Amino acid sequence: MKVGVPRGLLFYKYRPFITTFFEELGEEVVLSPETDKEILNLGSKYSVDEACLPVKVFHGHAAYLRDKCDIIFLPRIMQLREREYICPKFCGLPEMVINSVPDMPKAITFPIYAFSEKSLRKWAVKTGLIFTKNYLKIHNSYRAALAAQKKFSPGINDIDYDIKIALVGHPYNVYDSFVNMELVSKLHKMGIGVITEEYIGDELIDKEVKTLFKRPFWTFTRNSYGFSSYVGTHKEVQGIIYLSSFACGTDSITIEFIKDRLDNFPILVLKIDEQTGEAGFNTRIEAFVDMLKRAVVNCQL
Ligand code: SF4
Repeated sequence: MKVGVPRGLLFYKYRPFITTFFEELGEEVVLSPETDKEILNLGSKYSVDEACLPVKVFHGHAAYLRDKCDIIFLPRIMQLREREYICPKFCGLPEMVINSVPDMPKAITFPIYAFSEKSLRKWAVKTGLIFTKNYLKIHNSYRAALAAQKKFSPGINDIDYDIKIALVGHPYNVYDSFVNMELVSKLHKMGIGVITEEYIGDELIDKEVKTLFKRPFWTFTRNSYGFSSYVGTHKEVQGIIYLSSFACGTDSITIEFIKDRLDNFPILVLKIDEQTGEAGFNTRIEAFVDMLKRAVVNCQL
């Protein structure tokens, strides 16, 4: 069977697991292409107006794949960590796509609880049984997928830059260069290095999160807050750029937590949606970088 895998949302973080699992089962994986204008237009056409940009983009990838595969993977991610949740839009993603995009093929939509290997295995068994009745093959595919994921190290940690910023936000905003209008290469061209949350270990993030009066309910808030708090208070970077999706509920809370923790630390919040103009986006980045460069020169005087 041809299994369609939309290149959207947490695909950027879990690509090795997803593709290896289906390939080891003996199926052909059909990926949608990198996000581009066509994908975005499809997403805007089919998704509800109120959806955030990443959800619209995911609709676009799913619509692109609908006539190119026999079955499509629409991940219903419920939890990535114990006692934490991710955005409710992930839980209802399959229904949103199936009810908005016409002529969708059969979909894989079993809930994914990925906080332990045991809980994730339940998803693997249910999904594997769609393709084969051979439990050993499913088990082996699952083990191979886990191994592929463990070898994968996403993230950016530039060295040899005099000025470095922390790029904070959801992985699908940070790693989709169409959505973020090539932000990382723009920063590099301006002589600015970048670090992302993957380079701060879980233990350090957990330690920083304890500075909040209450444990965060959302995994995205935990990651972004913990990362920003660590790099800001330890002066690992000269500034923070927070890439935020317009109308994102978790971002609106997380940004306030970070600002509250890092009083007077340079933070630029870039909100993105499908209407964001590149000229205005560039002007804000350039102004922020100028300010950081001037602050560094003043410190050296
Ligand atoms: S966390 Fe925010 S950006 Fe991500 S899907 Fe939910 S609303 Fe959209």
